Parts: sequence; C-alpha cells; structure tokens
Amino acid sequence: MTRLVLATRNAHKIAELRAILAESPSVGPDVELVGADAVPDAPEVAETGVTFAANALLKAHALARASGLPAIADDSGLCVDVLGGAPGIFSARWAGKHGDDRANLELLLAQLADVPDEHRGAHFACAAALALPDGTERVTEGRLRGTLRRAPSGAGGFGYDPVLQPDGDTRTCAELTPEEKNAISHRGQAFRALAPVVGELIGDQ
Ligand code: IMP
Repeated sequence: MTRLVLATRNAHKIAELRAILAESPSVGPDVELVGADAVPDAPEVAETGVTFAANALLKAHALARASGLPAIADDSGLCVDVLGGAPGIFSARWAGKHGDDRANLELLLAQLADVPDEHRGAHFACAAALALPDGTERVTEGRLRGTLRRAPSGAGGFGYDPVLQPDGDTRTCAELTPEEKNAISHRGQAFRALAPVVGELIGDQ
C-alpha cells in the first residue's frame, strides 16, 4: 500500500480527490489517500508565492518533507478579466480578513458595479501540485469560465460561487449540486489531470 497525503483537513476535499483517483485507470487500488490530519506536526505554510502553482507547490513540498510521503496540495481563486486577473491569489483575503467569504464577495460586486454585462467575464482557477519527498514535483491546472452576476444567487457552495455563472448554464455555481460542480470545476479538472501523474510517479513504487 502506497500512502499519499493531501494538504487539507477538509473531509469533502479528501473524499472528492479519493473518488477521482479511484476512477483513474492509471492509479492502482494500492494507493491510499489520507488528509493532513494523519500527519503528526503537519506544517502551516505561509502562501508567499505569487501564482496559484507556486503556492500549491510550497504547500505540497512542505507536507512531503514533514511526512516523508508523496503529497498533493491545491491553490485556487477567482480571476476577473476587467480586474486584470484579480483577486487571483488574494481571493480568500480580498476584503482584508482571510476567509471572510461574504465581505470578499460584497467588495467584488461593489468594485464591478459600473461594469456592463458584456465585460463581466471571469474564471475560477486551480493549480494542483504533487511533490515527492525527494523533491520531484508536478503541477496541473484547471479553469472554470463564466460571467459575474450583479447579485448573489444560490445557497450552495462557498466563496464566490453565488456570483459566478458558468458558461453554458443559466445558474450560478451556488445553484449547482456538488456533483454538477465537481464535474466542471477548476479543482475537479486540475485533480483529474493530476491523477495520471500520480499513477506514473507513485503508482508502481
Ligand atoms: P483556497 O484554494 O482554499 O486558498 O481558496 C482561495 C479562495 O478562492 C477561497 O477562499 C474562495 O474565496 C475562492 N475560491 C476558490 N475556489 C472556489 C470555488 O470553487 N468557489 C468559490 N470560490 C472559490
């Protein structure tokens, strides 16, 4: 059995990646995914990178070093066209306080109040990094493209979900079921792209 650790304590994220790895033909049943809770003294890593990939790699390398296991980490955010890609890596702390989803969303809507509908394009971006204890690293990325509504809608999801309407849909991300969102999301895409890399690098150890 090969253990692989994901840099999160969020049970939903662990279950989502476990399901994606299980569906991947290149990842054998002997690969077991655990969360950071399974690693004593898992490090808290400052996100000092200036790209999603750099931050995902920082977190994956720190966890691989601390655990002696292959480690996966992701970093994600919302990139708004008319803001030149912001909030980007600052998505979780856009209004000043880390993780205040409501304040972040309200500030963004206020900033875009005068922006006409045809210029409200945006995407969620995610980088997923795999790091091995020997320093080997790989990164994959995913994007979910859409437009920003003028007011929040929907009770599901988190973060900016109530204002991003994916292209080709009439609902916001907060109005999708978790399964519908996982099927198209930036994180789902990045993790699905990483699964064959996991198979290639650690499946046969
Ligand atoms: P992190 O990758 O957990 O650091 O997420 C960064 C921030 O980006 C979150 O706090 C949200 O504000 C935003 N974000 C990332 N992914 C999503 C998503 O799927 N829906 C809504 N907001 C997201």
